[in-house]
Amino acid sequence: MGAIDLRSDTVTLPSASMRAAIASAPVGDDQFGEDPSVNRLQERSAAILGKEAALFVPTGTMANQVALRVLTRPGDAVVLTRESHLVWYEAGAAPANAGVQLTEVGGRGTFTREEFLSACWPPGHLLSPPTTCLVIENTHNRAGGVVFPAAEAARICAAAADRGVRAYLDGARLWNAAVAVGCPPAELAAPFDLVSVAFSKGLGAPGGSLLAGSADLIRTATRYRRMSGGAMRQVGFFAAAALHALEHNMARLADDHANARRLAEGLAASARLRVDVDRVQTNIVMVHLVEGAPDAAQLVQRAKEAGVLMVAFGPRTVRAVTHLDVSAQACLRAAEVVAELAEARAA
Ligand SMILES: *Cc1c(COP(=O)(O)O)cnc(C)c1O
Repeated sequence: MGAIDLRSDTVTLPSASMRAAIASAPVGDDQFGEDPSVNRLQERSAAILGKEAALFVPTGTMANQVALRVLTRPGDAVVLTRESHLVWYEAGAAPANAGVQLTEVGGRGTFTREEFLSACWPPGHLLSPPTTCLVIENTHNRAGGVVFPAAEAARICAAAADRGVRAYLDGARLWNAAVAVGCPPAELAAPFDLVSVAFSKGLGAPGGSLLAGSADLIRTATRYRRMSGGAMRQVGFFAAAALHALEHNMARLADDHANARRLAEGLAASARLRVDVDRVQTNIVMVHLVEGAPDAAQLVQRAKEAGVLMVAFGPRTVRAVTHLDVSAQACLRAAEVVAELAEARAA
C-alpha cells in the first residue's frame, strides 16, 4: 500500500476524467486572447466570485505578488493577518517585488476592525509610510485552516474603503471557506477589490490560480503578470483541468473537512498530542506535541517510516492536510499510527 500523504492538499494527482478533459481541451495563444479554455475559465470564475473580470496566473504566489503591485506603490505599508502566507512562504517576494512594508496584526488566523485601524498609518504623514492595502487570508493556513468571520471581514473592508485603503483576499483556500460556512464564494469575496483563488489545492488540478476584480484592476494585473514572466501561451490545458475541478471537486470539499475532523478526533485520543478539534473547520489539522512526546521532526520521520506523511510546522507542531486522494479510512488509519508513535519515548 502506498503512503498516506497528508503533507498538503497540493499533492493530489489528476483523475482519469481530468486527464481526459486536459487532453481534449481547445487551446490557442493566450497572449492574443485566443485560448478558448482560458477565456471560459476566466469568465466562469469571475461569475462564481461575483467580479467583473478575472485573470489566470500560474501560481498563488504570483497572484499575491501581482495583486500587491496593482494595489500599492513602493514604500507603502500593507496590513495583513499574522503568520500570513505572504510573510512566511513567498521567499521575501512582497518587499522585493512590490517594495512594500508588511504589518502583521491579530492572531490565530483573524484580526478585528479595531486591530486593523490601530495598525493603519494615514496618508500624507511626513514620517510614517502610508497604509494603502489590507490582506485577509481565508482560510488561514498557519492557523490551521480557520475561516475568517465574514461579518468582521465586511466591517474591516468598509473601514478600509472609508480611508482609501484597498482590500485584497488571499483566497488560495477560499473554496474550503465557502463550503465550510455554506455560503457562495461571491459573498465572501464581495467586500474585496481583488481576490485570488487556487485550482491546485483542494480542487485537485495540477496547477493554476486566478485573480478576480474590476475590469480596470484586472487590466493592470495583466501588465504585472507579464512583468513577472507569468504570461503564457497554450495554457488552456491547465484551464481545462481547472474547469473540470470547479465542476466536479467543489461540493466534495465537505468530505475533506469531515475527514480532517475524523483525523483530529483520532489524534486527540492520545494524551501526548493536543489537537483543538473545534478549530478544525476545514481540511487542515494542527497537532501540538506535549512534553514527553517526540518532537515534530522525530514524529514526522517515524510517521514516514510507518507510511504516513506529514509536515513539521514548528519544533513541536505538525500539520496534516486532507484532500481528494485520501479516504476517510486512510485518515482513521493515519490517526491510529500517529497516536501510537506519539506514545513512544522521545529519542
Ligand atoms: C498555497 C498558498 C499560496 C501560494 O500558492 P502557490 O500556488 O503555492 O504559489 C498563497 N496563499 C495561501 C494562503 C496559500 O495557502
